[in-house]
Amino acid sequence: MRLVLVGPPGSGKGTQAELLTKNLNLHYIGTGNILRDAINRKTEYGLRAKPFLDVGELAPDDLVNSLVADLYRDNAGLDRFVLDGYPRTRAQAVWFDDLLKTLKRPIDAVIQLSVNDEEVVRRISGRRVCPRCGTVYHVTDRAPKVAGICDHDGEKLIQRPDDNESVIRARLKVFHSNTDSLLDYYRDKGLLCEQPSYGSVDSIYQSILGLIQAKKH
Ligand code: AMP
Repeated sequence: MRLVLVGPPGSGKGTQAELLTKNLNLHYIGTGNILRDAINRKTEYGLRAKPFLDVGELAPDDLVNSLVADLYRDNAGLDRFVLDGYPRTRAQAVWFDDLLKTLKRPIDAVIQLSVNDEEVVRRISGRRVCPRCGTVYHVTDRAPKVAGICDHDGEKLIQRPDDNESVIRARLKVFHSNTDSLLDYYRDKGLLCEQPSYGSVDSIYQSILGLIQAKKH
């Protein structure tokens, strides 16, 4: 199973990707996480990407595609995956299709998680992350047992620097301007499945499973 998740920041892509990864035994590939890790480690990719992430813009296509190419070089068996946050542009989708074509491992389905902009701002500005284990919380929707502290390791939770309102609004603008042509590309290929991202995590997850099943037939 090779899945791509597309949705604005805060649409639950990460949460659903985590469930799909665990339950369907897939590799998780999150380009946002890979880029943030590269920035923290101050690698060449990280240094190039940082100014873009800081202001909520997309990192350049060639940089992100190179990261994905490296992943494939280092994990030759990367056959079953769920992609969270890649491809983000039509150019990335075309490049990635070419790569998968050479490997004879085409994408099975693209799940579009849709949610309106105001809800995105509410969700993301309340998001908090554990810097040690990466667990994601929300101040009201998924609150830790003790406010501001990770349930798992007692670490003080932080807000990602790009999770403040002005950066979120910039990221939404970027998302809308790149996504229509990306979705058209996958719709034309018959791969796109649309899923509104409201309600419980589990009900959305069950709907996604239904969409994937339907794509198989
Ligand atoms: P995310 O964690 O997926 O919300 O990504 C955080 C940030 O990383 C985005 O706002 C972009 O700056 C950058 N990023 C992640 N994935 C990509 C991608 N496929 N193409 C370009 N930039 C990306």
